[in-house]
Amino acid sequence: MSIDHLLLSELDKRRAQSLYRQRRVLSSPQDVEVEIDGERYLSFSSNDYLGLANHPEIVEAFQQGLSRWGTGSGAAHLITGHSAAHHALEEELAEFLGYPRVLLFSSGYQANLGIHQALLGRKDRTVHDRLNHASLLDGAKLSGAKLLRYAHSDMNALEGRLADPASGRTLVVTDGVFSMDGDTAPLAAIANECRCGGASLMVDDAHGVGVHGPQGRGTVAKFELGPAEVPILMGTLGKAFGVSGAFVAGSEALIETLIQQARTYIYTTATPPAQAEATRKALQLVKAGDERREWLQQLIGHFRRGAQQLGLSLMNSATPIQPLLIGESADAVRLSERLQKSGILVAPIRPPTVAEGSARLRITLSANHSMAQLDRLLEALQ
Ligand SMILES: *Cc1c(COP(=O)(O)O)cnc(C)c1O
Repeated sequence: MSIDHLLLSELDKRRAQSLYRQRRVLSSPQDVEVEIDGERYLSFSSNDYLGLANHPEIVEAFQQGLSRWGTGSGAAHLITGHSAAHHALEEELAEFLGYPRVLLFSSGYQANLGIHQALLGRKDRTVHDRLNHASLLDGAKLSGAKLLRYAHSDMNALEGRLADPASGRTLVVTDGVFSMDGDTAPLAAIANECRCGGASLMVDDAHGVGVHGPQGRGTVAKFELGPAEVPILMGTLGKAFGVSGAFVAGSEALIETLIQQARTYIYTTATPPAQAEATRKALQLVKAGDERREWLQQLIGHFRRGAQQLGLSLMNSATPIQPLLIGESADAVRLSERLQKSGILVAPIRPPTVAEGSARLRITLSANHSMAQLDRLLEALQ
């Protein structure tokens, strides 16, 4: 039997289960209004929380970076790909976050694989929240360490996991803000469990940096924690920062270890230096972005009040991620299609991204949304 024959039968099965995924082709820049197939849509489906993905100052910094640096970095960081632009961005991020050092990765997915693989081996264990991002799970698998998972944000469950005797290292890993639920991890309590249990803590704050904490320094800063409690802080630059890429913040020893050992750092081409210049500008805008963050909070409050009045099942989220729990995949897809017919884009999120029976509409808010646009969403939901 040919490979295609086998693949097609699997694809058909997926379609029958309402699990088939399709890409939308945008013919406009990412923003709260996007164009698809010649139609304009009001979008609640990006991670562009601060509305920086098409910001003129960042675009200009990227263009100037291209004039100065050309297009390609031409090599991996450890060969000749590490430019003064990358280096400056690392130093500026470290200062911003209040960490000794920062290392850039080409994507968050790669950062999470590299951290686990570099820091853990077969004799070690890693303890994950059940709702952690897929890239963290893949990192744990790649590392060969024993993977233990605890019930979502359940400190008794975490404590139970840590009570098992261990011979090697223990790395506890959690999202700062959970990507598909929008809730915030109880970082102070988790840090405390780690201290008592002799474990190190890693936080993936892909959805927190730029959005939470003073100057947008993220969930760790929001809890007034730092390198002592969270020695490994990972964040991404393609969500609130509006560009692309990721970083790990930590001690001198951590960053040097990742440079020596993280294969997803060593064996990949550095991102374009111009992208680092654009991200340096994005960092300035994030730091100065209190107005955007305050507006986002107003939008979040307005949406939650409105959705409550409509009797919709909101999740326990104080962040721009405001999912509506639907249940069955087919229902989530049908609702998303109906919203799209009325000119509104909200992505249905289905298993395996979320647990079986917990398909949802993942509504995300951006500082570029107006109250009138949010009211359009609420009317359509009604
Ligand atoms: C998006 C995301 C990643 C992956 O980051 P990319 O830069 O998109 O590869 C990792 N962790 C979490 C929690 C994310 O939401």
